[in-house]
Amino acid sequence: MTQFTDLGLAKPILKALADKGYTQPTPIQAQAIPIVMKGRDLLGIAQTGTGKTAAFALPILHRLAEDRRPAPRRGFRCLVLSPTRELATQIADNFKAYAAHLGLSVATIFGGVKYGPQMRALAAGVDVVVATPGRLMDHLGEKSATLGGVEIFVLDEADQMLDLGFVVPIRKIASQLPKDRQNLFFSATMPGEIGKLAGELLKNPASVSITPQATTVERIDQSLIYIEAQRKRPLLAELLSDKAVERSIVFTRTKRGADRVAKYLTAAGIEAASIHGDKTQGQRERALAAFKAGEVKALVATDIAARGIDVNDISHVFNYELPNVPEAYVHRIGRTARKGKDGVAISFCSDDERSLLKDIEKATRQKIPSFDRRNDKALAAAAAVADKLAPAEKYVDPRKADPRNNVPSELRRKRNRNGGGQGKSAPGKGGQGGGQQAQGRGEGRNGGRGKGGGQGQGQGQGKAAAGGGDFRGPKRGVQQVETRWSPID
Ligand code: AMP
Repeated sequence: MTQFTDLGLAKPILKALADKGYTQPTPIQAQAIPIVMKGRDLLGIAQTGTGKTAAFALPILHRLAEDRRPAPRRGFRCLVLSPTRELATQIADNFKAYAAHLGLSVATIFGGVKYGPQMRALAAGVDVVVATPGRLMDHLGEKSATLGGVEIFVLDEADQMLDLGFVVPIRKIASQLPKDRQNLFFSATMPGEIGKLAGELLKNPASVSITPQATTVERIDQSLIYIEAQRKRPLLAELLSDKAVERSIVFTRTKRGADRVAKYLTAAGIEAASIHGDKTQGQRERALAAFKAGEVKALVATDIAARGIDVNDISHVFNYELPNVPEAYVHRIGRTARKGKDGVAISFCSDDERSLLKDIEKATRQKIPSFDRRNDKALAAAAAVADKLAPAEKYVDPRKADPRNNVPSELRRKRNRNGGGQGKSAPGKGGQGGGQQAQGRGEGRNGGRGKGGGQGQGQGQGKAAAGGGDFRGPKRGVQQVETRWSPID
């Protein structure tokens, strides 16, 4: 078995790995690290949970440390693009931990928070910046960031970037990068458009592919319960009261659904919190911290908010509603059974979700063992009480309620089309967070919704939505319209 010590990584990096108790590289690390250390471009097919962050962070830090030089003012030597702020934070935390004994600097750039600290962090130059595309575009537009010093460019979760309409901004960012650079490209899946983007960005790449699903899925005890839609909440409360459930993620299809379920569970005496794009950054961080600390038994989340969140020891995943896309089922249940542990995944299926179940079983080539709890009198009685605690949600056709539910498909298509905008904005003018939000990328969602605790005004959102892929910044006095969306659903 390869050990980290066999890979030729710099001593301070090995020390940081030892601090974390990591001795053996995961398969993607064993494959990718030597390639990246040589300076080659890399195409990695892998998802969160495989150890992919360290697979690029370790050799990048090694290379930066080997050839130390100051980053240019407002510039950085390594740029990592991530689709969501949670993932960006997680990646940056990983970099910081591995760089603990190297003296290299790491900063994050994402929406929903103030510009000032980010500008100050960038001012003198940084070794590694982990950014979401929207806010980075804002900084480039404002000239508070420059890409001229980038030696290594990492695009993480490329398929999710496509889903969120980030392909055009990515192309714009890439067009400003120095030609002579190393590119690393990671994606869990390779739809055509992502393959095309990879082809444009990568030069003679080596490729590594890790598909952990099979092994992960094998360790997950999956089951499915047929249940009436309106009785799902009491059923969930019943299942959550089992002592075996230590820490769980409950997936709903919509943000409002997540809130309602969390509210109901709390009223039913079960510690629960919800996490989605309408929450302020502070609320999301607090919910995650409480969840990690074990104070919250059930974290109720929408797909995109939960994706990429790295919390270990999740004993159970509940699919309160089945996802519209079968791949999301695999992503969801993969939140449990991490780090070699076992896990339980229980999915609820109401009559209107039968076709979604069919799709999932077809895509995963398995039949999920099922139980029928329909016509359960005890649940019917509890459901009546539930309605009083937190009124049930109106029925929404699951086919129409896309997990990125507030992203009008036309808007998403336009964003992914070339020529969709200029990335110019005026963060200083639009209110912190507002500039980002105005671009409809949602990282500044808080601002856009006016819920950001004064972080933004959201004035530009209507403009962005109306413009459909127009990445101009906010304008004062532009009315907010309803067709807004957030990638962090
Ligand atoms: P990632 O796929 O990068 O999100 O990593 C998944 C989890 O595995 C994270 O909690 C990492 O800190 C952890 N991890 C990464 N590499 C290793 C390793 N070689 N040994 C043990 N744990 C690791």
